[in-house]
Amino acid sequence: MNRRGFIQISSVALLPILLGIFPRSSGNKKRYSISVKSNRSFGHLLRKLSAEKPVRERTTDYVIVGGGIAGLAAATQLSGKDFLLFEADDRLGGSSACDYWKDTVFATGAHYELAYPETFGSEVIDLLTKMEVIRFNDYSKLYEFVDEQYVIKGSSLEQCFVKGEAIDEVLSGVEGLKEFKEILSEFKGKMLLPTRLIDNEYHYLNSISFKDFLSEKMNLSQELERRISYQMLDDWGGKCDQVSALAGIHYYVCRPYDEKDVPLFSPPNGNSYFLEKMIGYTNAFEAFEVNSLVRSIKEVSDGVELEVINSSREVELVKAKKVVYAGQKHALKYILKSEANLFENSYAPWLVLNFVCRKGIDFNKWQNDVVTENLEFMGFVSSKPQKTRSAEFDVFTAYYCLEEIDRERLVAIEKEPSPFVEATIQLIEKETGTTITDHLEHVNIKLMGHAMPIPKPGYLSFSDVPSYASNIIFAGVDTGRLPLFYEACDSGIQAGRSVLEDLNVDDYES
Ligand SMILES: Cc1cc2nc3c(=O)[nH]c(=O)nc-3n(C[C@H](O)[C@H](O)[C@H](O)COP(=O)(O)OP(=O)(O)OC[C@H]3O[C@@H](n4cnc5c(N)ncnc54)[C@H](O)[C@@H]3O)c2cc1C
Repeated sequence: MNRRGFIQISSVALLPILLGIFPRSSGNKKRYSISVKSNRSFGHLLRKLSAEKPVRERTTDYVIVGGGIAGLAAATQLSGKDFLLFEADDRLGGSSACDYWKDTVFATGAHYELAYPETFGSEVIDLLTKMEVIRFNDYSKLYEFVDEQYVIKGSSLEQCFVKGEAIDEVLSGVEGLKEFKEILSEFKGKMLLPTRLIDNEYHYLNSISFKDFLSEKMNLSQELERRISYQMLDDWGGKCDQVSALAGIHYYVCRPYDEKDVPLFSPPNGNSYFLEKMIGYTNAFEAFEVNSLVRSIKEVSDGVELEVINSSREVELVKAKKVVYAGQKHALKYILKSEANLFENSYAPWLVLNFVCRKGIDFNKWQNDVVTENLEFMGFVSSKPQKTRSAEFDVFTAYYCLEEIDRERLVAIEKEPSPFVEATIQLIEKETGTTITDHLEHVNIKLMGHAMPIPKPGYLSFSDVPSYASNIIFAGVDTGRLPLFYEACDSGIQAGRSVLEDLNVDDYES
């Protein structure tokens, strides 16, 4: 097989492929610099090179499209096989990527995972155990993280600010909380991961909204609904009246939170930690090609043909027997029209701002929720309770979840980020009473137009992922799964296994 243009890396040189190049500073006149990263550039590239014909051709057995958690999990199943993974971005990770400022690493998306009960599906647990990421704790009866240095201490875990006042957590002291908890208690131990394992008995919860479900059972006060909506937006990208009851209930009872401490794992590079482990596990570093945008996928008589815009901005034709498509499904209308109507998802746009500050600010809790009037701001995470390497900087990572109809706002923020950065600083300072401006050195912004599928009523799928094409298998959380690491990982494992199982080897050997 000819693999021209691949990025050669060894395990020690793993970092460049994860990180790619630094985004350039926008050169504003503030005392701090700002860099902005957005995946809108993929659309520009597609348009610019739409008429270009392939300049070369190569073949491989399997192709994975998309280097997020799902794509990488698929790659772990193809270890030792002839495969290529194409990632459009300049680094692997997707919504679980990380970035750097000087000596400081920070997550630009997914940033934590929680220990797993024994009842969760075995495939992800087996993979993470083999990768030495988790091990079973006989005492807690949970699969816990081997790298204990990245587990956040219970006392540093969280606080919440509401109208400038600090409370323990988002639902603290809200009227109706006791009744709410009682309603949820009947589902304890039933809300599994991956969600495909949830018993049929509970599937009806996928067809009603969380708000309707709760309103039938209790007098849901406006304030309780608002606080629940904040938490739903934070994990599912939609409010209480938008997400399904199954997603809502799952959020609160998928782990035995009120019986024991469930360790929370948050390394400074966020869920890129898992990505690095997966890349190492595949032992196929040369198979990962970043800056490589798949612009079309076509089923042909003996397999699949893909056109890839490579890192030199040339178009290549890649022939394969099977493809795992682990990119976002909303893009299928451009890449693979025949399959575009299989997934009718709604996606929440997200913005992530990493405030890199010289040490000296006392945000000592890891999660700092901030409940504002319009519920767009999802608070910020402080690196202070994390085990970090930087002697100079702390990073405060702020999150916004926008309404779908507000996606266009990302364009304006990309063009002129300063007012948005200033507004966020003011919001944090006003709500927490702590000044960050004096310590601020750099702001890293990541804009994601289709960051996560919103699990609206009817969204979750408990059966096999559909496909009209027999040689194209879909993976990723937006195949009817909750937007979580565990789901992405499970879907990738399933897809990786199924390309191997489905292949009739005789067809290719004769
Ligand atoms: C801000 C934010 C915070 C989150 N925090 C957490 C958290 O703390 N814990 C948790 O469990 N979950 C979290 N999630 C959810 C979690 O990140 C995702 O559900 C999961 O990582 C999705 O993985 P994926 O592989 O399905 O998709 P993605 O991460 O979206 O990866 C898809 C990849 O495919 C690539 N791609 C798409 N089209 C093409 C193409 N044509 N050619 C080549 N490449 C292509 C994209 O560039 C991307 O890298 C968070 C999500 C967001 C947005």
